[in-house]
Amino acid sequence: MTLDQLEEAAGVATTATGGRIPVSDALKMAEKTRPWLAIFDHAGRPLHLGRTSRLASGEQRLILIPFDRGCTKPRCDKPPSLCAVHHVKDWVEGGETDIDGETFACDGCHALITKTETGWQTIKADDDHEFPGRTLWIPPKHIDPEQKPRINHCHHPEELLDRAIEAANGREPPDDDAA
Ligand SMILES: [Zn+2]
Repeated sequence: MTLDQLEEAAGVATTATGGRIPVSDALKMAEKTRPWLAIFDHAGRPLHLGRTSRLASGEQRLILIPFDRGCTKPRCDKPPSLCAVHHVKDWVEGGETDIDGETFACDGCHALITKTETGWQTIKADDDHEFPGRTLWIPPKHIDPEQKPRINHCHHPEELLDRAIEAANGREPPDDDAA
């Protein structure tokens, strides 16, 4: 839920299993739990939470829930509860267990990331990108000869709404995820 929804105790919240419940019900469920505060920057990126251990900690997984909101492969709608934490830069190549290099991928999508001609690759969008910090999936050549990086908007419907509004206002939205 957003801060506005929390303050007004109204609206719809999304759970880690992808369910949608009224904010009033979410607050009731939260009464007996220990709350966590996640803080994000202006671009919606979680603030740095570095670790040097191999496995993602529970905290890192928690902060990916409101940021990635589910599997990051384009067009995949799997919720956080069905996702593993994927290291965008491979651990054996020196990838650190740091929130900047981690993302959610469900088992089916995770298996598609391989260093072969038919495998997908993942990178993080840089600061100049429209969605900095988000995970970009690079398709293999047989799917897209230009290998244009793609982003998943399934769990971020407000981004599509923003684009629709821009398009309606006559401005061309950036084409970063053509199918
Ligand atoms: Zn997936």
